[in-house]
Amino acid sequence: MDSMLKTLRKIVQHVAVHGDFAQALRVLVTEVKQAIETDVCSIYLLSEDKTGYLLAATDGLNEEQIGAVSISLDQGLVGLVGRRAEPINLEAAAQHPNYFYLPESGEEAFNAFLGVPIIHQRRVLGVLVVQQTASRRFDESEEAFLVTLAAQLASLVAHAEAVGDNAIRPRVDGQSPQALSETCFKGVAGAPGIAFGQVVVVHPVADLDAVPERQTDNVTQELLLLDRALESVRRDIRKISEEFASSLPKEELALFDAYLHMLDENALAGDIRNRIQRGQWAQGALKQVIREHLDRFELMEDEYLRERGADVKDLGLRLLVYLQDIREKKSQFPQEMILVGDEVTPAMLTNVPPGRLRGIVSVQGSGSSHVAILARAMAIPAVMGALDLPAYEIEGETLLVDGHYGEVFRRPSQRRLAESRELIEQARVFDEELDELKELPCITQDGWRVQLWVNIGLSGDITRSLDRGAEGIGLFRTEIPFMSQDRFPTEAEQMALYREHMTAFEPRPVTMRTLDIGGDKSLSYFPITEENPFLGWRGIRVTLDHPEIFLVQVRAMIKANEGLSGDLRIMLPMISSPAELLSAKVLIDQAYAEVLEEGADVKPPQVGVMVEVPAAVYQARLLAKQADFLAVGSNDLTQYMLAVDRNNPRVAELYQDLHPAVITALREVARAAHAEETPIGICGEFAGTPAGAVLLMAMGYHVLSMNATHLPKVKWVIRNIKRSNARRMLAKVLRMGYAADVNQFMHQQLTEAGLGRVLPHHHD
Ligand code: PEP
Ligand code: MG
Repeated sequence: MDSMLKTLRKIVQHVAVHGDFAQALRVLVTEVKQAIETDVCSIYLLSEDKTGYLLAATDGLNEEQIGAVSISLDQGLVGLVGRRAEPINLEAAAQHPNYFYLPESGEEAFNAFLGVPIIHQRRVLGVLVVQQTASRRFDESEEAFLVTLAAQLASLVAHAEAVGDNAIRPRVDGQSPQALSETCFKGVAGAPGIAFGQVVVVHPVADLDAVPERQTDNVTQELLLLDRALESVRRDIRKISEEFASSLPKEELALFDAYLHMLDENALAGDIRNRIQRGQWAQGALKQVIREHLDRFELMEDEYLRERGADVKDLGLRLLVYLQDIREKKSQFPQEMILVGDEVTPAMLTNVPPGRLRGIVSVQGSGSSHVAILARAMAIPAVMGALDLPAYEIEGETLLVDGHYGEVFRRPSQRRLAESRELIEQARVFDEELDELKELPCITQDGWRVQLWVNIGLSGDITRSLDRGAEGIGLFRTEIPFMSQDRFPTEAEQMALYREHMTAFEPRPVTMRTLDIGGDKSLSYFPITEENPFLGWRGIRVTLDHPEIFLVQVRAMIKANEGLSGDLRIMLPMISSPAELLSAKVLIDQAYAEVLEEGADVKPPQVGVMVEVPAAVYQARLLAKQADFLAVGSNDLTQYMLAVDRNNPRVAELYQDLHPAVITALREVARAAHAEETPIGICGEFAGTPAGAVLLMAMGYHVLSMNATHLPKVKWVIRNIKRSNARRMLAKVLRMGYAADVNQFMHQQLTEAGLGRVLPHHHD
């Protein structure tokens, strides 16, 4: 049995590498049949129309029938295993009332039957069956073995289903590929919006792996080649940057400068040159250096930094193209195109004639990839990490991209295309309307004023935030600039960055959060390795233990505000007791006194607490008394209240921001703050959702801080509703016991209030 598990592992790897699902099933049935020493092993999989189970692989039955024999869901023992969702083990199957005889499969003679369901995320996807002619009872260990096997097989089947693998489709003679139906591929949201168009696949023309390592006897010549390649790539990047200059804010354009820096003599170029001087030819030296850098990036825990590995690879390939002199440019572009690639890079966007690019899909990458950042800035819908999408097989096909939900539809139906056309047009008209709200206050129809602020950090998107009418910064995630360094930034470095934001936002208030590392955010130069990082040394716990880091940061914040009229608000993350607030205040007072002593003319900062740990909800009243403001971090608060890791896709469905427990907690915090007359805000993603914004406004949150992208829509919703109406909704919601009910109720209420335009369209 041990060796069977090894076999299974081998098969899983085989499929992961080659994607050959049908072959994997064939190997599996043969191996199982041998291991259990029986006559037949078969796998039945749910048909595409979900009306029955199709014979997908067999060793022992008539192989001609694979893909042809179908057992409906309510038929036979296979159907029964599926319906019960548990194993059925019989000595004499023919005597069971559910026994169902399929003459064409040639199973007449079999007596002993053991069937186990193949289940993925609560859904029965198929049944694994072993049978034997002679009367026999499969023993418990055999049953346990098959259950283990089926559980592992389930994710493979789910994957095959997702990619529309032929092994789980009925065989219909003469079916042309066009007749295949629509398939949906899941990825993550990269940039919001819906788009469709013809696929243009981009791929790197050069292949670093194929470069041989070779010694050269003409070092000078190789160095010359390198210099030329470097110069050409630099020129290309500058050109790309210029092409983007009119369509991108300057912070995003800075990405290209960062690119150029990676080529500097003290970075990649110097490393490559060293290798050449030691005798390696230019291409081999390039390959070695890029590999080493990539290895280092892959080890990084921080997603944002890991994504920078993609930039290094892109630069490496660009250099190789020049070293090998194999430039290839696509010359034909459809009018409406979707750019698809295994790893789409910003540079790949540049060959596309402006105005034709409708959407972007990258098989690799995440919402923090540069391409996703650029796509958001250019308002091009994008889906990242669509791992199952067979990118290289779909050139020229029509693809529909849904950047709200991170979904890609291959062979979209006429109905879906028509619907999307309408949605795109509606969005365009709506965006024009939203633009007109920019200068207007966020005020309900019955005169209740709410402040809409922005969360900033990743790309320093100052311009975009101000363009959308942000009235302040509600959360500056200071850890982001810390992450892109190889040591703690100095006080002067921090001050310059903070001041840039404060100046741009003056006279608006700016909320600077002190360093929030730990959890899923770590610094390469300050590693924290823990079994349970979200419950470990995180946020304020780290900085209170390291006053030298905390004090420098707070001093930088205070100094950065010198001479500016906007309020500086210092916000403390992960507070789980009032004692932490008091300790932090002592340090902040110390920093302020030092800065005054140095002669700076600065106002004392306001000090606020993030309510993102359940303990802080229960002590909100005391915290509100001692702090100048409270701000709920609903991302973490939801994670800690529901005990659901916010980054784990397996439990993503349990992460419900409309969970009644979370809503009640949010209301309690607001009440506590009101009782102490302390301003209360929120800076989690929830504030940027239409339902969330309405409920929070009803609860009396003064400040909603969100990603700039969501700001105009939230303003529109609030300007088009009465607070009295929102309070009525809140009262009903507070009596509900299920997240699904809250969700449905709010959807219906917003639609009835004429606010349906902001609700992202749900696919059926
Ligand atoms: C939060 O937890 O809601 C929050 C705003 O902080 P972060 O997402 O940076 O943890
Ligand atoms: Mg948080």
